[in-house]
Amino acid sequence: MTVIPPVDLTEQFKQIQTDVNAAVAEVLASGQYINGPVVESFAQAFGAYVGTQECVVCNSGTDALYLALRALDIGPGDEVITSSFTFIATAEAISATGATPVFVDIELDSFNLDVAQVEAAVSDRTRAIMPVHLFGRPVDMGPLLEIAARHELTVIEDCAQATGAQWQGKSVGSVGHVGCFSFFPTKNLGGCGDGGAITTNNSDLADTLRMLREHGSRVKYHHEAIGINSRLDALQAAILAVKLKHLDQWNRQRAQVAQRYDTLLANCHGIQRPQAPGFGQSVWNQYTLRLTQATASGEDRNRIQQLMRQAGVIAMVYYPLPLHLQPVYRHLGYQPGRLPQTELAAHQVLSLPMFPELDLARQKQVVQIFTEVLAEVMPKTAQCY
Ligand SMILES: *Cc1c(COP(=O)(O)O)cnc(C)c1O
Repeated sequence: MTVIPPVDLTEQFKQIQTDVNAAVAEVLASGQYINGPVVESFAQAFGAYVGTQECVVCNSGTDALYLALRALDIGPGDEVITSSFTFIATAEAISATGATPVFVDIELDSFNLDVAQVEAAVSDRTRAIMPVHLFGRPVDMGPLLEIAARHELTVIEDCAQATGAQWQGKSVGSVGHVGCFSFFPTKNLGGCGDGGAITTNNSDLADTLRMLREHGSRVKYHHEAIGINSRLDALQAAILAVKLKHLDQWNRQRAQVAQRYDTLLANCHGIQRPQAPGFGQSVWNQYTLRLTQATASGEDRNRIQQLMRQAGVIAMVYYPLPLHLQPVYRHLGYQPGRLPQTELAAHQVLSLPMFPELDLARQKQVVQIFTEVLAEVMPKTAQCY
């Protein structure tokens, strides 16, 4: 049985192998492995791609978020409003500064922050809002920017899953005050290891970011703040520079994969397919369905995932336990039921295999197996005709 994985990075590597190998060999031969022209040139190219004046590259998306918060002087006593339906890194970065994440519920049809609920969460301690463009789909930034302006808050976009996505024709990461990106291998622009970037039009902020990522130092061996060591390796920069040239094409292919899933699943009832935003462009890091009638405990969804796996299709659950209910955030005192849409989504979502090279034949197989399993597990409530 051939297994269809959620992501396959080997197919993409084969397409660009010659260029990647040459770029890697060049860095290896240069002897310059930390900082230097290859890193600088990638940072410039990525900033130009996003459309900001400044781009500071670093070691991971998590560090990008952490550094952005630190550069804005956010720390103990401060609050940052964000989503609970995201990867831990979003809130972890807030907590790592000593600040407190304040979780707001999501909209079920986008899985993104419910912007209408954000303003009620603003307190006199709130310093920033951190929207997450989840699964590649942009948050509707307009109303969010208005709330931020009204309360003098900074908007830090978590663009980790959305490199290349657009809101009103602008790339995410150029809409808020700061954009944070991840180059983790499975992201839309992924390296062969960890990596991240921060984009902004504020050059003072960019200088502070560069200082913080280099041990709090602008001048070597002169330290003005407690920083961290968070640089993008020259090897990763070289690889990412090769891959950046293909990103738009790969994002278009992802959109085609999504469109084919839409067609193949058009006659299914009891599921919600991902909704395209009216105000921008998703880049489909994930194709995430919601079982609208699944049991509240997530049992049906888990059974569907398990049976699909047995039949050779690996579907994933992002994310089974929302952040406000994680053991690490117990001290914040959120009770189950506090963020109902988030909690429902956590029990109902299922992400089908999604990567640019996924072809129609395999997608048909995915949908056939999904359909069969759905009929078995939820015969009364969900069905494809
Ligand atoms: C991947 C991810 C991050 C963290 O990125 P790393 O490069 O893995 O540290 C942050 N936020 C979201 C939403 C992510 O998906």
